[in-house]
Amino acid sequence: MVEISTLQNKLKDYLSEDLLPLVNEGYQFALKSHEGQLRKSGEPYLEHPLQTALIVADLMLDVNCVVAALLHDVVEDCGVALAELENRFGSEVTKLVDGVTKLSKLTKPADGAIVKPKKSADDPQARIESLRKMFIAMAEDIRVVIIKLADRLHNMRTLKALSPDKRRSVARETMDIYAPLAHRLGIWQLEWELEDLSLRHLDPAKYKEITQLVAVRREERERYIKQVIRVINDELIKSGIKAEVYGRPKNIYGIYKKIEKYSADGKEFSDIYDLLAVRVLVDEINDCYNSLGVIHSLWRPIPGQFDDYIANPKDNMYQSLHTTVMALDAKPLEIQVRTYEMHRLSEYGIAAHWRYKEGNKGDMRFDEKVAWLRQLMDWQRELSIPDFLDMVKTDMFGDQVFVYTPQGEIKQMPAGSTPLDFAYRIHTELGHHCIGAKINGKLESLTYQLRNGDTVEILSTRTDRGPSLDWLNPNSGYINSSHARARIKQWFKRREKATNIDTGKALLEKEFRRLGIPLSEQEQIALLFKYDDMDDFLAALGCGDVSTHQIAVKLSASPDTEDIPQSVVRPLADVEPAVQVMGVGDLLTRVAQCCNPVPGDEIMGFITRTRGITVHRKDCPNVLNEDEKERLVKVEWGRTGHAYPVSVLIEANDRVGLLRDITALVSDEKVNIAAVSSVDYDDGVTNIYLTLHISDIRQLSRLLSKIDRIVGVLSVARSAEAAKRES
Ligand code: MN
Repeated sequence: MVEISTLQNKLKDYLSEDLLPLVNEGYQFALKSHEGQLRKSGEPYLEHPLQTALIVADLMLDVNCVVAALLHDVVEDCGVALAELENRFGSEVTKLVDGVTKLSKLTKPADGAIVKPKKSADDPQARIESLRKMFIAMAEDIRVVIIKLADRLHNMRTLKALSPDKRRSVARETMDIYAPLAHRLGIWQLEWELEDLSLRHLDPAKYKEITQLVAVRREERERYIKQVIRVINDELIKSGIKAEVYGRPKNIYGIYKKIEKYSADGKEFSDIYDLLAVRVLVDEINDCYNSLGVIHSLWRPIPGQFDDYIANPKDNMYQSLHTTVMALDAKPLEIQVRTYEMHRLSEYGIAAHWRYKEGNKGDMRFDEKVAWLRQLMDWQRELSIPDFLDMVKTDMFGDQVFVYTPQGEIKQMPAGSTPLDFAYRIHTELGHHCIGAKINGKLESLTYQLRNGDTVEILSTRTDRGPSLDWLNPNSGYINSSHARARIKQWFKRREKATNIDTGKALLEKEFRRLGIPLSEQEQIALLFKYDDMDDFLAALGCGDVSTHQIAVKLSASPDTEDIPQSVVRPLADVEPAVQVMGVGDLLTRVAQCCNPVPGDEIMGFITRTRGITVHRKDCPNVLNEDEKERLVKVEWGRTGHAYPVSVLIEANDRVGLLRDITALVSDEKVNIAAVSSVDYDDGVTNIYLTLHISDIRQLSRLLSKIDRIVGVLSVARSAEAAKRES
């Protein structure tokens, strides 16, 4: 149990003595209020506010913050009235405590001590409102957020007292919300520890592995860094630059992310030299660039690894020069160069602006202060806009989206995630059995893109059905996370090969029919994918290893243009021929009306008597039945950029708005409709013929997949029959 004297000693370092009685009064009040309360760990509750105040004091925040940290739980846990706090400690402390209390309510019982059994499915509206409050509180007084971060940090340090389940959920929340907040505020001192402690509980095995990795060969590594530091130091002294050079250990989570990145790139993480970095601190900005020059003349910088955050500060105002050089023994080494001032800002971030400096309030640099005020005003102004949550999304968490389970748990997902991604995130089986989703109580399609604050309820079936292969189709928009993709693929992989072959066969035939490719070319396609065995290819198709989308991509892969004679390349670069005639080049060509070939189709040219060359599909009956074979010439597709007419037949159950839905979708794809016509039948079925201007077979495939999913559409395929222009 820590003593109040520890806090007092720490405060004496930066607060004037006459402010200490206020701190003591706060301490006494907290002591009395929490009397008899115990933490989960069994120690007196007071330990918690005292430790929180110590963290706040480490950041050298003003006296009001320290007192508020001591009192931060008395309203929530002891029922002390705000009015009483106001009488004793004044309005500023009270406002801070009130702010922290509100934040605690919103993030639910994450505090170490008092866990309230609150499991009611919260009204989502109320929760969004709470989230809003959190940010309003933040915009009003950033110190509230800093105290809350200190509170959370101590709870994370003492997480062991909780059940394993609870530990994980608190750690998850910390990783999702608090660590990013610390990052946003630029407070590295809080960020790294919050991240490391979260990782420790979220992935204990990985955490242990990394700490061991760090421990192993430590001596060797440190010897190396010492050598590097000596070389840099000597060289800086020779150049007359006064600097402090030291080795900086990376935090566990930082290494963890690096390892993840390596493995995503298919690389092994083995370089122990990546575990340490060197930092150079200097007095003036000029010295930063001069030091960098010295370092770069010592060792070759690795291209693309240099960042000038001095000229271009990060959003959280972080400034430094970052470079990676091939240092001694040609080992890559990360070096950061910054001034002492920049260093202070990077360690304490926004907290640096509220730091107390005796008799020297003007220490806060004027331009920094103005920059922050402007930022705060921006936030506040934006808070009144209706799409507040969108702002939070883009501003705070960038590419992440936060949604709730029906139980009110917060889940962090990559932006663009769908209900299916969410289902797989919750549980693999839930994903496999997912048949629908309710967003905020309303049924939505599975391609719905999750928004911040959505409550997502997954509807599942108990029958033994698995995922749909269509979910893997990147054109379908069903999933956007690699996690869900991996799980679905795994499911199909485990299925029997015979089943996969059947599925693959059906898929291939359907795709060929749709794209108007003769079934006899199946084997060639398999070869294009480097499969010798047709069954293997079909199985790969049936389990999602190869997608029908890829077939279109392969077919439209631009032909090898290497051996085309120079004469073909015309000086006017943008008038590339759409069709290149082998050996001839720029003969007049036009696309045949009978078969409307598009790039990706195999084609033949027919030399007409008067109109140059007509381009047909190789399997066009007019070509096959041509008597004058000598008129046929070999032609190939030129570069892309042209549009080709393609006829498409859509069979559908007629309904109001059907045609509008189809045309809207087509124009969304930026495809022109050249003609449209339709034939209605008695049974309510309608045949719609479209002539579309398609740029290649890949686009056609994507468009057909999308049309296929429109409500009422029974089938869609390329057709021999052209649409008549409507009107
Ligand atoms: Mn607390």
